[in-house]
Amino acid sequence: MSRPFPLPGARARYAPDRVVDVEHIKLDLRLDVDARRIEGTCATTVTPILDGVRRLTLDAVELDVHEVALAGGGALEFRHDGKRLQIDLGRERKVGWWVLADGDEGPLARLGPDALSAELAVLLHGSDDARRVHTILRDQRTVAGIGRGYADDVLHRARLSPYATPASLSPEQLETLSASVREVLEEALEIERRRTGGLPTKLGDHFAAHGRWGQPCPRCRGDLRRVSYEAYEVTYCPSCQTGGKVLADRRLSRIVR
Ligand SMILES: [Zn+2]
Repeated sequence: MSRPFPLPGARARYAPDRVVDVEHIKLDLRLDVDARRIEGTCATTVTPILDGVRRLTLDAVELDVHEVALAGGGALEFRHDGKRLQIDLGRERKVGWWVLADGDEGPLARLGPDALSAELAVLLHGSDDARRVHTILRDQRTVAGIGRGYADDVLHRARLSPYATPASLSPEQLETLSASVREVLEEALEIERRRTGGLPTKLGDHFAAHGRWGQPCPRCRGDLRRVSYEAYEVTYCPSCQTGGKVLADRRLSRIVR
């Protein structure tokens, strides 16, 4: 015996304000034949259509709803009038995106200008930032979009020491630096756009210098070196970037001493 019936959230009959696509629905039901009751859970996977989805309205097909929660746990506020189920998503961070109200920039408010914007060159030229360029490039509050890996590759491309400061660089070197940021990031984006099968557990299978210490420099074939810090390493090429000078590696110095 079978009879078609709508699934919770499957397709609202009229939904001009639909903000998500329903990707998958999994029903886990227990039948109480004597009491003529069905009880269970419905897991619905949705993909946002719009940015900043804060509230979700699903067709509740006249079921009683006792609890609404995110897949990872965490109960959500909801309202239910027998026909519609309104779920308040609040400001949960989930799989890398934020759910925010209109006009609320959330964590983006603390970000510096995008690394690919023209603002980067302006920011570097005549900068009185006394920090090393490697530090400046990977500080998301100063410029957004460059991590440690790409900071290594950018400086390798620009043939600049990771220890250089903006004030120590000539206008030409600063120009090369901005151009290298653009080139390295645009090439990386090209590669990422071609990637299939999801992200690897460790990014950086296409870095030119980053993480490749001990291997030959792709430009001069000399050995790439590293400077180790507590939680990360800076990789560079002495011949291309520091005039042959090997930068002090505290970990290495401790062993040598
Ligand atoms: Zn080199």
